[in-house]
Amino acid sequence: MCSLISRKEIKKPLLIVKSIEDFPKQKLSDSQLSRQFDILKKYKEGLTLQEIAREYKLTRERIRQIIERGLLYEAREIIKKGFIIDLNEFLKEKKQKHLLAKKIKHESLKKFVKKNKREKRWSRYYDCCRRCGTVFISHHAHGYCEKCYPKTEIFKEIQTASRLRNIEKRKKYTKEYSKKYSKRPEVIEKRKKRWDLIYFGGNREKALIRDKEQCQLCGLSRSESYKKYNNDLCVVHINDKKNNNLENLITICRICLKLNIGKFKKIKHNLKKIIKKSTPKIKNFNEFN
Ligand SMILES: [Zn+2]
Ligand SMILES: [Zn+2]
Repeated sequence: MCSLISRKEIKKPLLIVKSIEDFPKQKLSDSQLSRQFDILKKYKEGLTLQEIAREYKLTRERIRQIIERGLLYEAREIIKKGFIIDLNEFLKEKKQKHLLAKKIKHESLKKFVKKNKREKRWSRYYDCCRRCGTVFISHHAHGYCEKCYPKTEIFKEIQTASRLRNIEKRKKYTKEYSKKYSKRPEVIEKRKKRWDLIYFGGNREKALIRDKEQCQLCGLSRSESYKKYNNDLCVVHINDKKNNNLENLITICRICLKLNIGKFKKIKHNLKKIIKKSTPKIKNFNEFN
């Protein structure tokens, strides 16, 4: 007998049936014949052996046998009419037709599945968000959309629990992050601007430019102060700390500020006088360094 399933066997030379006597002589009842006819029809439509077997509650092997028998019956009827058949070729043709039908069916199934995917539900158990009722924002958890979920009590409980669990980790992380953050050049500039606004009313840079970016007591320039102390020059109020006029501001280096703390309150604003008064101190300062 020749099998239909395995391709290896089909490649082997099959028995060529020449006379009608070689065909199966067993007579089938009407119900058996009709079942065989139905199975053959389904096979030609492209259903796999497994699918047919599932429908009739038989094994796949049994279905294969029935199909084989049916094909032989077909061949016998052709031979009865007087035609001569190469059975090998006949079976090959039938198998190829079956494969083609299977391919077409598979592709059409794929399209059907794709169409069904587009019409899927919003979530597995909910048709829309429990809180706001949207369908357009995608589902996150427990029937809430991505926007509403962080406002729910479920989320808040999880959040507080995780915070309590990871307090020390969080502290470490925030320390490291704040160190890195404060060293960023953009952040430094931003902070400078804010301080400038709060403490000098936006006049700090103007005062620095007016004083030619130099310490008014010792003459240290801005770039040198950066090199020496790794910091900018200071701008100080002379009399009143709330008075942010340019006349009330003066630029000094860090060391001069330390030496002269408390003296600015007494001095009235007169830059030339201050410079003259502080000239002897410069020598002291140089010795100090
Ligand atoms: Zn929502
Ligand atoms: Zn100075």
